[in-house]
Amino acid sequence: MEPEDRQRYLRALPAVDELFRHPQSQAHLKIYSKALVVASIRRVLERKRQAILRSASEQGAGAVEMAQEHLLAAVEEELAAATRPSLRPVINATGVVLHTNLGRAPLCAEALRNIGDIASRYSNLELDLITGERGSRYEHVEEILRQISGAESVLVVNNNAGAVLLALNSLAEGKEVIVSRGQLVEIGGSFRIPDVMRKSGARLVEVGTTNRTHLKDYEQAINQETALLLKVHTSNFRILGFTAEVSLKELVALGQAKGLPIMEDLGSGCFVDLAEYGIEKEPTVQEAIEAGVDVVTFSGDKLLGGPQAGIILGKKKYLDILKKNPLNRALRIDKLTLAGMESTIRVYLNKAEAIKSLPVLRMLTCRLKELERRAKRLQRRLAKELSSVCQVKLKEETSQVGGGALPLQILPTRVIALRPLEISAADLEKKLRHTDPPVIARVKEEEVLLDLRTVAETEERLLLEGVRQALK
Ligand SMILES: *Cc1c(COP(=O)(O)O)cnc(C)c1O
Repeated sequence: MEPEDRQRYLRALPAVDELFRHPQSQAHLKIYSKALVVASIRRVLERKRQAILRSASEQGAGAVEMAQEHLLAAVEEELAAATRPSLRPVINATGVVLHTNLGRAPLCAEALRNIGDIASRYSNLELDLITGERGSRYEHVEEILRQISGAESVLVVNNNAGAVLLALNSLAEGKEVIVSRGQLVEIGGSFRIPDVMRKSGARLVEVGTTNRTHLKDYEQAINQETALLLKVHTSNFRILGFTAEVSLKELVALGQAKGLPIMEDLGSGCFVDLAEYGIEKEPTVQEAIEAGVDVVTFSGDKLLGGPQAGIILGKKKYLDILKKNPLNRALRIDKLTLAGMESTIRVYLNKAEAIKSLPVLRMLTCRLKELERRAKRLQRRLAKELSSVCQVKLKEETSQVGGGALPLQILPTRVIALRPLEISAADLEKKLRHTDPPVIARVKEEEVLLDLRTVAETEERLLLEGVRQALK
């Protein structure tokens, strides 16, 4: 665009007031506030202005759409977008089951029902229905968690980071905590064990080396100042080769001999032995309790498949200290989370049921044959409709567990590989993110990959529609 054309285009843009007085804008006032309508008009005009300036700098850029009905339609879209919630469902076609950026675990149907009930009505959150006196919110999950895990005592807080902070502060403030050097992990969102330790007021004492730590390393570090021995499950990485770690059992024996409590941060925390389903062994919560750990903490929304929460199990003697800590109130779990958590945990009373009805476990244990059948079906439909604009193939790939769990686990899958003919794969990935609902996919070697492991069967229609929209 020549500079004089640019000036002409800029001058031709209508004023805000002119668009506002148009009957189509006036009609919006029946639904939306004046401020919102005006703001939407301003945004549309500003975008248009930017487009004109941009097309001036790009050689041969096409004419800018200036018709008034085009501007009014853009205002209408702007209004619709402004009133749509910012937090909304997306289709996870990445194949990463516990995707922290996409909200980790989708909940099971029972949890959703219970959350809806509790959210919409009053409840016995802190009322003992038998005595009529004040009750405890933790009671609703206490008995069942004890039953499943074998632990003496239970506490649930906002998340596992909070659980670790609360436990360290309650049991070791102003004192020393011994940790193996190989377990000083950082998980996503800059949660680092040494940093949490400092914030808790406890002093970190590192023992051993990155790859090898022995029982005598812990023994030699114990002194008058020691308050706790901490084991951290290296959930999101593995050290391979010449390695040695002290087992939880050995640590417990040492703790008992020296009169010191043992705590384990399990990270993911799982009630089902996934090895039975052909998945890499992840230590279970029951195993930690059986080994005699005094305090164990884990997330509610990782492998457990529930809402965001930090679950703390262990000996009553120590959990009573945690419960009295004012920090516990600051990290309190809210009633909706509690409702979702209780229902999720109840599903575990029947292990076969848990694998079937908890989305996280169902996706992790989904058979390759099933994934292939679904992928093939969708691939055929897409190929038939879109072959003029996109190559659509079926490919062998791997899904990931994610959420900082089971980093070495390879989950074989079949993906639909889209190779667009007119735009780049990166552009298609971006367009998919802008469909409604947004489709989140990954790009590999100039192809957009869609992994159905993390797409519910009920979402397939929306996925198909999203790909259509993006390639239109
Ligand atoms: C994920 C994780 C945490 C933090 O849990 P959140 O529930 O995300 O707060 C802490 N420790 C370990 C080892 C983890 O894997």
